[in-house]
Amino acid sequence: MTTKPTAIRGMNDILPGTSATWRYLETAVQDIVESYGYAEIRLPLLEHTELFKRSIGEVTDIVEKEMYTFPDRNGKSLTLRPEATAGMVRAGMTNGLFHNQKQKLWTSGPMFRYEKPQEGRYRQFYQFDVEAVGYDGPDVDAELIVMSARLWQRLGISKIRLEINSLGTPEARHRYREALVEYFSGVKNQLDEDSIRRLGQNPLRILDSKNPEMRTLVEAAPVMLDYLDEASAEHFSGLKALLDAAGVTYSVNPRLVRGLDYYSRTVFEWVTDALGSQGAVCSGGRYDGLVEKLGGRATPAIGWAMGIERFVALYEACGGESPASDVDVYIAALGAGTLEQAFRLAEELRDKIAGIKVEMNLGGGSFKAQMKRADKSGAQFALIVGEQELADGRISIKPMRSTEEQSSVALDELATTLAENLS
Ligand code: ATP
Ligand code: MG
Repeated sequence: MTTKPTAIRGMNDILPGTSATWRYLETAVQDIVESYGYAEIRLPLLEHTELFKRSIGEVTDIVEKEMYTFPDRNGKSLTLRPEATAGMVRAGMTNGLFHNQKQKLWTSGPMFRYEKPQEGRYRQFYQFDVEAVGYDGPDVDAELIVMSARLWQRLGISKIRLEINSLGTPEARHRYREALVEYFSGVKNQLDEDSIRRLGQNPLRILDSKNPEMRTLVEAAPVMLDYLDEASAEHFSGLKALLDAAGVTYSVNPRLVRGLDYYSRTVFEWVTDALGSQGAVCSGGRYDGLVEKLGGRATPAIGWAMGIERFVALYEACGGESPASDVDVYIAALGAGTLEQAFRLAEELRDKIAGIKVEMNLGGGSFKAQMKRADKSGAQFALIVGEQELADGRISIKPMRSTEEQSSVALDELATTLAENLS
């Protein structure tokens, strides 16, 4: 017996109905970022494994345990992208986009991480990603945040709050790192296995631990803001002043470090309590050192990424509605020679009424069967093309969502009549 194919764990099919909401929300965010002058860039799903190791950092959750890495047929190690920034920077370097130029870019699509699948956490998930390369900030930092705030506002998403922090320069972080090593070494016997390993390699990552047992220890740890260099402190004040002026509320969360190595100075996260433990909806930060680390010229940059699944879930949790996906008109054809005319009519309506959704009855059937399908389609009107009507140059219109009687109009008045009556 053959067994049915199964889906891969943590990889979802986005079905019709749901996909309409996705597209509505994706379009909303695209419109907003384009209105700020960001342009789309499309990137491969695969990159050389080395790119992610070098940019995200070897001692991070993503590189240590979440990447889909495999040799291609030539034995080259490739990785399905776990995030978009590394590929975007690589593409900018490959195509000379950063040479004496500034870039404001957006991209979107699936990301892959081998995580434990649960509500809001999947192995293939989707991100919308914005990056501004070549800008020092803090003005662009504020713009990126204000842009996301506009998105929530436009969509009526209220159950969300903004947390910001600064990670300073690499030198400041180095001093902070030493303070962390000293602190965590003193409580080493209470650390979990991951944290003990990271203590030697990358103590900042302990702050990002997802283990609730580490929480109390992490809360008592030294905070980065006390180690901030003067220029970064000024940068951070500049950002706060701009957010204040724009009326965007935030709280400073000194524990916010973000799970990737390449961040410096500004980091932020939009979080919600409406989605259980997967509260991070949109996360971002500055990565001034990344281009140089990958072999380019020192180039400041900042970006954010939003998880689409969590964005959709939050929109719905805030009472957001899905756009209607029903058709407007269903065309039934009954009797000899009517099908050709019905087809012509359907095309004519699509030509004449912008955006109209017309569904043709396919596969024939009795009047009753066709009306049943018309009803199921959600159409406001069924158009009935019959032999007698055709002979008279007329067509019957049957309202499907009201008790109004069926009526008939002259064929050449149909488009105008429909356009007036479609809501
Ligand atoms: P988390 O703390 O939830 O693991 P993260 O810090 O790993 O998130 P980022 O790498 O910053 O997340 O990715 C940006 C956004 O992508 C997150 O804010 C979240 O909305 C989304 N995201 C990250 N990982 C997943 C996943 N496995 N499934 C669904 N969405 C995700
Ligand atoms: Mg994560």
